[in-house]
Amino acid sequence: RKFKDYNLSEEVTRALSVLKYQTPTEVQSKVIPRALESQDLVVRSETGSGKTAAFAIPICEKIEWEQKKPQVLVLTPTRELAVQVQEDITNIGRFKRIKAVSVYGKEPIARQKEELKQKTHVVVGTPGRIIDHIDRENVALDEVKYLVIDEADEMLHMGFLDKVEQIIAELPKDRITMVFSATLPKDVESLCYKYMKDPVNIEI
Ligand code: AMP
Repeated sequence: RKFKDYNLSEEVTRALSVLKYQTPTEVQSKVIPRALESQDLVVRSETGSGKTAAFAIPICEKIEWEQKKPQVLVLTPTRELAVQVQEDITNIGRFKRIKAVSVYGKEPIARQKEELKQKTHVVVGTPGRIIDHIDRENVALDEVKYLVIDEADEMLHMGFLDKVEQIIAELPKDRITMVFSATLPKDVESLCYKYMKDPVNIEI
């Protein structure tokens, strides 16, 4: 399998070649075709497997540049991961001029607020800070079509699952949801079945 086989847009294909991604990793070859078909996915895979691009590629492909409000929300357990995901999406979406913003705690909220005021396609962030922005009405999530919960097992271990549920309650029901997790503890599994539509399970 090559990235060519997915019929990706010229813009995304060009970005992948700049990044020197030639062959999809295993998680990418399993996730990309299904995500392009708009299926909900629960993916068990480790960091280092190429999981970020596995969701970033189909998401960049689907983003409509003209739309003003955020279309994608990615939840991460840590600030470091939020920044990494935002950078990866920015790189893969560069020729579509996709704007991704990351928000996380322990940084002044005002600067993030200013960033969120610009046209933003993708919001990446940690649950607590996302809730802060929702409460302050700094971010509109009523047009979100894609929700990614990254490192869901870490979310659980850090006690963030209640916050994740609180955020999901703010999102449109008509959306695609992808959950990535190294392991699938019961609490993560029940969250998936509560909020996802016939998710396809992918195990790497
Ligand atoms: P991740 O599991 O998302 O943290 O990715 C691990 C590393 O693999 C990152 O440094 C990516 O830039 C790199 N990577 C992801 N997909 C590919 C690919 N198809 N070919 C080469 N490198 C990749």
